[in-house]
Amino acid sequence: MIQVCDIQVMKPLLAQHGFHFSKAKGQNFLIAPWVPESIAVESGVDETAGVLEIGPGIGSLTQQLCLRAGKVCAVEVDTRLKPILELTVGEFSNLEILWKDVLKLDINALVQEKFAGLRPMACANLPYYITSPILSALLEAECFDSVTVMVQKEVAQRIAAAPGTADYSAFTVFCQYYAEPELLFEVSAHCFLPQPKVTSAVITLRTRKERPWDILDEEVFFRVVKASFAMRRKKLSNGLASGFPELGKAGAAEVIAAAGFDANVRGETLSIPEFARIANEITKRRPGA
Ligand code: SAM
Repeated sequence: MIQVCDIQVMKPLLAQHGFHFSKAKGQNFLIAPWVPESIAVESGVDETAGVLEIGPGIGSLTQQLCLRAGKVCAVEVDTRLKPILELTVGEFSNLEILWKDVLKLDINALVQEKFAGLRPMACANLPYYITSPILSALLEAECFDSVTVMVQKEVAQRIAAAPGTADYSAFTVFCQYYAEPELLFEVSAHCFLPQPKVTSAVITLRTRKERPWDILDEEVFFRVVKASFAMRRKKLSNGLASGFPELGKAGAAEVIAAAGFDANVRGETLSIPEFARIANEITKRRPGA
């Protein structure tokens, strides 16, 4: 197996193919062998797993996944990498590469088609310029056992944040609605070529099989979350009144009281079940409810 993470191997390989990194495609390739190996090990991928990898690059994580998984399906948008991947991962019979933009894929259909009889998992060193849309698509697909990704450290902290902290955001609630996050380890900029300006971190999101809360209307729930964080320094009543103009100030105050909260409560301190209580009070007051 070609040691793609070895800089003495990688540089001539890239030069031989006239390959230049594309900043626009978020191309920072791993040059520290312990990183892709640890991602593959910590993700829990084994022969029962069908793994969707996003952005194989020149194949460092792909190799480690192929060594462990039942099947790997890797989606890469940059076709210039074709001849390089042929050399670095061409030997694996459990690998299929799709030359596509992951954001244009029907992920559910892909998982059903490629991973029949296997435990679907997602694993990737993500292109950072599209971290949120990719993660959102992976979680909303609701078909993976777990999603293990390398992202910018600040994003990982935001995903795993607790209510009331500075990192807690609408994206935190979105991710924790679908999955339970666990921060795994940090990766310094020195582990990449070219070096990014930020520190990275690997995080795993274990998808919830059941949600331990009742939400009457998912759309109302996410509108409440959005409204709360749109005015995070203000009282929740202000956020709700502006996010739900049909309630007005008085209606927003009524909802907050009926859900059992103090009139001065701030949205950024609420947990998911608490957001659910607010959302359900709004849903109950809607015409036709
Ligand atoms: N996995 C490799 C590694 O760890 O060294 C490369 C990771 S690099 C951070 C991100 C990869 O995602 C690049 O290979 C890039 O071409 C690819 N990529 C960027 N945008 C993409 C998209 N929309 N769909 C699929 N792949 C994409």
